[in-house]
Amino acid sequence: MYNPNRVTQEEQTGMELGTVICKNCLDVLFTLPTDGVKRFYGICSRENCAKESAGMEGEEE
Ligand SMILES: [Zn+2]
Repeated sequence: MYNPNRVTQEEQTGMELGTVICKNCLDVLFTLPTDGVKRFYGICSRENCAKESAGMEGEEE
């Protein structure tokens, strides 16, 4: 299972077509090098969003 929360920005190489956006406020968190244009959902560091994330049943594994 892809987990954008564990991806570090240091891993950015090559093309960056993947965009990680906060699924709560839809802010762009960062971009990722991917095979094509893709969109991933994460949670930004805002208090509200972190709270939303904690309340959601997870896809941790
Ligand atoms: Zn957010």
